[in-house]
Order: sequence, then C-alpha cells, then structure tokens
Amino acid sequence: MVFMLAALMASSSSAGSPSPSSSSSARRDGGRNVDGDWKRKVDGGDDNGNNNNNSNNSTTHHPFLSAFPKCEHHIHLEGALTAPLLLALSAKNNIPLPSSSPDQPPTLDSLTALLSPPHSSLQAFLTLYEAHQTVLRTASDFDLLAWTYLRRAHADHVVHAELSLDAQAHTARGVALSAAIDGVSAARRRAEAELGVSSRLVLCFQRDRPVADALRTLREAAPHLASGAVAGVGLDSCEAGFPPGAFAGVFAEAARLGARTTAHAGEGAGWDYVRDAVERLGVARIDHGVRAAESAELVARLAAAGTLLTVCPLSNVSLGCVAAVRELPVRRFLDAGVRFSINSDDPAYFGGYLLDNYVAVQEAFGLSVGEWGVIGRASIEGSWVDGGRKREMLGELEALLKGFEGAEPRDL
Ligand SMILES: [Zn+2]
Repeated sequence: MVFMLAALMASSSSAGSPSPSSSSSARRDGGRNVDGDWKRKVDGGDDNGNNNNNSNNSTTHHPFLSAFPKCEHHIHLEGALTAPLLLALSAKNNIPLPSSSPDQPPTLDSLTALLSPPHSSLQAFLTLYEAHQTVLRTASDFDLLAWTYLRRAHADHVVHAELSLDAQAHTARGVALSAAIDGVSAARRRAEAELGVSSRLVLCFQRDRPVADALRTLREAAPHLASGAVAGVGLDSCEAGFPPGAFAGVFAEAARLGARTTAHAGEGAGWDYVRDAVERLGVARIDHGVRAAESAELVARLAAAGTLLTVCPLSNVSLGCVAAVRELPVRRFLDAGVRFSINSDDPAYFGGYLLDNYVAVQEAFGLSVGEWGVIGRASIEGSWVDGGRKREMLGELEALLKGFEGAEPRDL
C-alpha cells in the first residue's frame, strides 16, 4: 500500500503528462493536440490512480468533443477520491475504510464496485461519501487529490476547472482549513505550470450544518479569499428541507469579502429553491438548476439575467433525479437562451469524468456544432477568470468550431 502511494506520487510527476509546450500547442491548434497525446491517454485509460472504472472513454469516436476546450465548474474534490486514492490514503494515514466484513478489508475491486453507480439512494451515497473523505488528513493528501483530478481532467481537455471543497467536513474532523486550502493550492499551481490548466477553489458550506457554523467558516476563510487562494463560496449537501434563503446573511458577508458565489439548487428540491437562491443569496450561478425548467417564468428570468447553471448529466441519472440523460432540459435551456455548462459533479461515484458527460449529452440530444458553440461560450464567459484568460479559451473554441463547420452531429 505504501508502494501504491509512492507510485501515485511519482507517476503524478511525469507519466503521461503532456509538457507545457504540448499543452500550448494543443491550444494553438484549436485543441486538437497534434501528437495525439490526449487520445492515447484517454483511450489507454489512466495509470495514475484514477480508476475511471465507469468511463466510456469514447474519445476515438468523438474527435470534436474530445478536443473541445472544456470548463468544469461543478466538481467536488471529495467526489474525486477514486478507489486507488482511497486505498493509498487509508494506508498512509492508518484510517480504515468501511467494509462489508471486518475480516475482509476493502480491495481495489470491492471499492471500485462500491463507488460505481447506481447508488441505492441519496442517503446511501452520502453515507459512503462522508466515510471515504475521512482518509484526507494533511495538506499533501489534498494536494494529491486535487492534482490527480486535474491531471485526469486535462486528459479530457479540461482547460479550466473550478474545484469545490466541503471545508466543514474536514475542519469538523480536526483538519486545519489552511492545510486543506494550501494542499489544493499547490496542485492548482502545478496544473497551471505543467498542464496549462487554470483553476479556482470554491469553498462550499454544507446546508445541513448550522448557519452559524457556515459564518464561522467564512470568517476563517477570509484571508484565503483576500489572497485569491479561494475564489468563491457555494452551498451544497442534501438540498430538500434546507432552502438557500437561510444562508442569506452568510452570502451577503461573503460578497462583502469579495467572494464569488454559487449555490446548489433545483436538483433534489424544486424550482422554487432556484428562485430562492437567486433572490435571497444574490448568486449569478446555480449548481444543477435543472428543475428550474418546471417554471416558465423562472426560465425566462434566468435567461434574461445570464445566470449560469452547472448541469451534471451523469450525476443526475446516478442519483435518480432523471431516469436518463435525454430527460434533462438541455434542449429547453438552449431554446430559451438559458446559459449552462456541463459538469461531472462527483466523478469517482457517478460513472464518468467530463468528456463522458459531454458524450452522454451528445448521444441523448445530437447537438449541432453551433449548439456546442453556444454551450462552450457560456461555459467560458461564466468562468471566474479574467478577460484575458476568457479570450484565450474563446480563441481555441472558435478555431475548433470552424474546423468542424458543417459536420454532422453523429460525427462530433
Ligand atoms: Zn454538487
């Protein structure tokens, strides 16, 4: 097991990682890396502890989607704890993982099966999720977790990622907030330097914990907001019964501190939670938000305001929000001019990373190059980056769109 951790850390420094020059050449060539490195890595699976066991890895059949410069806005780092990472960190920190039998400690196979969807219920998923994240103790653990995700995301040609972290889940276990943030920051710096992937960190408040606890966490995070190590705050965890408005005071203070804001709404609860988040938290972004489609008035309002919804197709199917990706309001949002991005949410648990989610959307809706352009521009414009970075990503997107002009949806 020690060997496994050493291997994870060693491989994370070299194997399969494109050099900065190959990353920038990919950008110059409209995302289609000339040496096909991304293709080899995705087709060949991942060798760095990223048990993307459920990934359909459809790169070969989706040249356009593979090369698409992707922005991921809704990814929980705790949801990127793959089976190899869990085993390695469990051994390193001497923290046992839950097992069906005390005589049978988890194996790579048993953990992989446990992580795979479908999950029997939201509660079953959350119980597992909370038990697994206890393996994270030190700054280097958070560094390894974030780096492993960013590296895997890079293989899907994610060019910008906004990483959520449940601060309270860790501080409640005695982990210093600064350790978690410093670890993630180290991985983010490395991803920027070595992979050309920009990123931001979003501290999420857990809505099933007291409001006063969220406020305490925000105040503790204030220096990290000031330094830029934390870009914004969010609101997550079990939605139903915890309307966003209860956190209005926390979000108002976050805004005063210069934080960007977002909130989960319209996934496990109805469209009224989306309205509540927009009205009472003042957020310009909603995580999930798919149930907003149930109110024509709200749809029109979101479109007019340019609110970005961070839609998570495979997650919604895995947790039973919809029976299939085709039931998501993707076409409705496009027709109504509602901005949205596509995201993986908790990729270790929901059967795929970002490209898998793009492919699932394409297989369900058969979108055109033009429609993908609309999604890509909204994803870039809605990212928490400056104008220069947006122009860089938009340039790559427009080059890709031009290269595939006239292509049939089935060939994307
Ligand atoms: Zn989420």
